[in-house]
Amino acid sequence: MTRVDLVVHGASELVTLAGPARPRVGKEMKEIGVIEDGAIAVHEGKVVETGSTEAIVAKYQGTTVLDATARTVLPGFVDPHTHLVFGGTREAEFEQRCLGVPYLEIAKKGGGIRSSVRQLRQVSEEDLYERTLKRLSGFVAGGTTTLEAKSGYGLDTVNELKSLRVLAKVNETHPVDLALTFLGAHEVPDEHRESRDEYLRIVIEEMIPEVAQEKLAEFCDVFCEHGVFEVPESRKVLLAGREAGLIPKLHAEEFEPIGGAKLAAEVGAISADHLVAIDEEGMDAMLEAQVIPVCLPGTTFFLNLKRHAPARAMIDRGLPVAIATDFNPGSSMTHSMPMILTLACVQYGLQPAEALTAATVNSAYAMNRGGDVGSLEPGKAGDLVLWDIPNHRYLPYHFGGARASVVVKRGKVIFEG
Ligand SMILES: [Zn+2]
Repeated sequence: MTRVDLVVHGASELVTLAGPARPRVGKEMKEIGVIEDGAIAVHEGKVVETGSTEAIVAKYQGTTVLDATARTVLPGFVDPHTHLVFGGTREAEFEQRCLGVPYLEIAKKGGGIRSSVRQLRQVSEEDLYERTLKRLSGFVAGGTTTLEAKSGYGLDTVNELKSLRVLAKVNETHPVDLALTFLGAHEVPDEHRESRDEYLRIVIEEMIPEVAQEKLAEFCDVFCEHGVFEVPESRKVLLAGREAGLIPKLHAEEFEPIGGAKLAAEVGAISADHLVAIDEEGMDAMLEAQVIPVCLPGTTFFLNLKRHAPARAMIDRGLPVAIATDFNPGSSMTHSMPMILTLACVQYGLQPAEALTAATVNSAYAMNRGGDVGSLEPGKAGDLVLWDIPNHRYLPYHFGGARASVVVKRGKVIFEG
């Protein structure tokens, strides 16, 4: 018998997502590695072996043992697109939208991203840290163990750095792992509405060098859209970020196909996100340059848009589709990856297995963590979730009801529902 830190056994399904060490494409997205009556051994934070309960229990003795009888075990979700750090919520705007006021009209009257900017600037770093830390518990209860988190509601040097420092501190203190993204080019702040070039100069010449010097982010993101940052402006920011060692990623083609997907390919972005309006040329460019498409079905749902990202067409073309919450106080106020799975199945026509691949392995690669998380394979992180459901299909099927029963991060139980 080999002694290990953790053994989980008896799962009606243990879903490993084992497969090639790269993002999954085409039919591979359905091959999720289901082991019935499955078990797993974890030691020093890493997966040692997966297999049948009989085989694993005969070989390993766990210091901690979890009985997963009648439950399904999945890898922890990897959420590759969140706006985790913000000052306050915007439920009054939601109420306005319910009354039929369009989002763009709310934004014109000073609502939207700019209202979040005003809120964040008023909150102290300490207070912002407490609020951000508290929000993570909702992600964990939904089975998320790794997430990407962006700045982007500071929009001046002081407040962008404040946001990233808060995220770095949250990452240090909370067991869930964060990957940090600088999104100074999220919007043009109020004080630069008449001097957008000056704002771009500040992003490129002041913010990016400081972010890079303090090693506060791994990625540099831009909101590339007509009326926000045009393609040439986005290119400047992404190249300056790349020059400073930040990996490019971008918000692209959310409303109009203006060339954001092609720009992602051109600058070697790790991902391009939203892509509701992507055209065939954009898809081909991303395929050629191996840019991962991150689709955000929560946003189109919450804004009640009738058009959805063509995720099925992307999969048919060979693109490794990933999905994310886009958690933010305006257009997607959810931290629930199970809900995102449901929406991906309903809006895009993904099968539950494909949605699961998009929310684990492919999303891990979309945030540069593919070698560490996203599947339960020997040597990878022991990040797993016990769900009180009979099989993996049940999770997106029972929408809105999902709550993890046990969440394990790097071999340690961090949540029990
Ligand atoms: Zn976003």
